[in-house]
Formats: sequence, structure tokens, C-alpha cells
Amino acid sequence: MTLLNGKEIANQIKDEITAEVDKMKIRGEKVPHLAAVLVGNDGASLTYVGSKVRSCKRIGFESTLKHLPEDTSEEELLKLVKELNDNPDIDGYIVQLPLPKHIDEQKVLLAVDPDKDVDGFHPANFGKMALDMESFIPATPFGIMELLRRYEIDIEGKHAVIIGRSHIVGRPISILLSQKGKFANATVTLTHSRTRDIKALTLQADIIVSALGVPGFLTEDMVQEGAVIIDVGITRVPDDSKERGYYLTGDVDFDAVSKKASYITPVPGGVGPMTIAMLLQNTLLARKRRAEKS
Ligand code: NAP
Repeated sequence: MTLLNGKEIANQIKDEITAEVDKMKIRGEKVPHLAAVLVGNDGASLTYVGSKVRSCKRIGFESTLKHLPEDTSEEELLKLVKELNDNPDIDGYIVQLPLPKHIDEQKVLLAVDPDKDVDGFHPANFGKMALDMESFIPATPFGIMELLRRYEIDIEGKHAVIIGRSHIVGRPISILLSQKGKFANATVTLTHSRTRDIKALTLQADIIVSALGVPGFLTEDMVQEGAVIIDVGITRVPDDSKERGYYLTGDVDFDAVSKKASYITPVPGGVGPMTIAMLLQNTLLARKRRAEKS
């Protein structure tokens, strides 16, 4: 079994981006600038946004955090989104999800300029991705594809079973794995909570991507010998013995499943760090595209 070390690969990618940013600085060019919008004080969101901003600093990007109170109105948020769209200094930005219930998430995501949509959530980018056109690819599925590519895992013609059909993970990874091209060309089955017999499907899978957020869902008896296992799930399990009051766990029964798998991602240290690395990669791409246009 080989551990797919997302932390190590993410650090490699960040080093590569840092080298590019250093060259930009030497040439006197503008460096990429990522902004993050956070509404409210959700614990997990604060952690994610904090680590995105820290990563920007580490690799030499400029970053801006717009932290708004929980009771921010939809109108105020849309006004900020417009300001970010219009600000020539910002190359890309993210609106951290979930938003408070009184704000229509879709309305906000639709207001983001697709050219600055480094999360790849705008329908213009999602549609282009589905049509094999150049776009911003959502960071988590992009990170999974990059992990498979850098470990040179052959997926051509393989059967990939995905568990979960969310718009940010399951659905886009089903599109990317089934695209025509090198490090793609898989045959994909996309499963969800209404799928009748997931075990019958996972037992036929060469690759399993688990993205449902149910700890220990994927057990050893659901996996065939030699399968590649990608665990996207991140759940905070309350634990008083830990200083922060919880520990993180994935969807996969790691100890048992890793004995059968050919490759497997750990949680933490697998897909999570890749997500941040690919957001930075998208921001670099946004800067380059804007530089080409100007
Ligand atoms: P989500 O929007 O809640 O979607 C969950 C999906 O799982 C849904 O499609 C749901 O089916 C399906 N599902 C739920 N219970 C199921 C069951 N018992 N059997 C089969 N399918 C089931 O979740 P998400 O945003 O994609 O996130 C999934 C997990 O990945 C979470 O733990 C999240 O924290 C984690 N995550 C990690 C990263 C990272 O960077 N590593 C990034 C994003 C998300 P229905 O559609 O039928 O409801």
C-alpha cells in the first residue's frame, strides 16, 4: 500500500508557485492577489479561511480577508462582491461557504465575476469544465486529479465509483475523471443517498472517491483488493482529551481498508492540503490570464 501524501505534494506545488512568484517580483510584475470573504464566525470556516490566508503569505501572494458579521444582509454582501469584481488589484476571490441562512448562496455565487472565480463555482466555469474548455476547476476535485497525476496512477479505462454528488466535490470529480485525455478516461459511477446498493458498486471499483461526510462509512468489506481510495470526508468528532475539543476523521475505516488498498489518502494530510494548494494554483492562473488581457 502506498500512502497518497497530500501534505507533501501540496508543499511541492506551493514551492513551485513560490518560485514563479519570485520570478514575477524580479521582473517587477504584479504578484497574485487573493481575497477571501467570510460572513459570520463558523468555527470550521474560520479555520479554512485562516489557513488560506496564511498560505498566501507563505508563497508571496498578496491577500485580503473581508470578515463580515453574521447579520450582514444579502444586499451588503452583494455590494462587496461587486466591489471585488471591480477592483483591478484583486485577481481572484472566494466567498467561504456556507453562508448564513438568510443569504441566498446561489444569488451570491452568480454575482461573482467568472474571471475572478478561483473556486470554480460559477455556472460559467462549471459549464466550461463539463465541456472540456479552459476554466477554473473547483479546488478539491482539481487537487484529487493532481494527486493522481503526480503519483502516476493509471486511471484510463478504470472503473471509478464516487460516493456523494455535491456541486463542490462529487459532481465535478465525476466529470473530471470521465474526461477524454491523459490521466482521465475513467468509467464513472456517481452514487448518492438514494443509490440502492452502494456496496455492490464499490466492490467493482478500481478507484473509490468517498465524499459524503459520514465517518467510517467505507468499510473493508466494501472494497476490492488493490483499489485506489480517495477519502475526501472531513468530520470534526468531539473529543475532550484534545486541546481543541475535537479530532478530524474521514469517511473511510482507514486501518482496515488500507490493508486492501493499493493507494490511499489519509485524513488529515490527504485531500485537504491539496485543496488549498489548488486554490493558490487557480489564483496564479487568474493573475496570468489578467496579465495577458491587459
Ligand atoms: P454534501 O454537500 O453534504 O454532500 C454529501 C453527499 O453525500 C450528498 O450527495 C449525499 O447524497 C451523499 N450522502 C450522504 N449520506 C449518504 C449515504 N449514507 N450514502 C450515500 N451517499 C450519501 O457534502 P460535501 O460538501 O461534498 O462534503 C462531503 C465531505 O467532504 C464532508 O465531510 C466535507 O467536510 C468534506 N470536504 C472536504 C474537503 C477537503 O478539502 N478535503 C473539501 C470539501 C468537502 P444526496 O445528494 O442524495 O443528499
